[in-house]
Amino acid sequence: MNIPLLNFLFPNMCCICKRYGNYICDDCKKLLKRNLPECYICRRISPQYSSHTQCKKSCSLDSVFVGWEYNHMSASILKLYKYKNVREISIGLSNLFIDTIQKSSFSSHLKNTLLVPVPISNARRNERGFNQMEYITSCIGMYFNLDVKNDFIYCKNSNSHQANKTQKERYNSKDNPFYIQDQSLKDISKYKNITLVDDVITTGYTLEKITKVLKTQYGQDLIINALCIFRGKPYYLSTN
Ligand SMILES: [Zn+2]
Ligand SMILES: [Zn+2]
Repeated sequence: MNIPLLNFLFPNMCCICKRYGNYICDDCKKLLKRNLPECYICRRISPQYSSHTQCKKSCSLDSVFVGWEYNHMSASILKLYKYKNVREISIGLSNLFIDTIQKSSFSSHLKNTLLVPVPISNARRNERGFNQMEYITSCIGMYFNLDVKNDFIYCKNSNSHQANKTQKERYNSKDNPFYIQDQSLKDISKYKNITLVDDVITTGYTLEKITKVLKTQYGQDLIINALCIFRGKPYYLSTN
């Protein structure tokens, strides 16, 4: 397909305000608030995005990059991208996210890492038809020249017993909906660490449970980092 025809079928239009130009226009981009490098756990500033040693527990992530604060603009982007399968929003969001990672000090953690998108359950995949994180992760992999493994960690469908639990009960529960499927990845020694890629951090439940599965399989010394597009307002901003 040639480029003019592609532009006709998929015009470069801002998916938020519908103005022609970029998939996410400069005005809408300005409404996204950048997160500062912080410790994933206490959320105080931490220059290399590393979790402070005194903040870490056994299943804590080592370094977590968060792109932007979760606000009304992030919420509309996520809604479009998760439920409407808007091709343009995935391209716009990937480009923006890659640009933000690339300009940050987190990019040094990406040397020789294995990128793993956070999985969704089969029920959710059937409902949406796709896991958008796989697309975004493959774009990050291509840009930074990193290996990506999709069929690696799986998520069980939540049963009604789990669905009835409150967020706190779910978080504290010993049940882990995530498991490692691909036993062929027995040797991960060629990678320096594993980087999980997720869209939004709410309670941190997903990332912590996946970290636990990985550390149980590959040892407590395995370094696990994460790239996450959005997270709620950090304490350093709410105290102002
Ligand atoms: Zn716009
Ligand atoms: Zn801390």
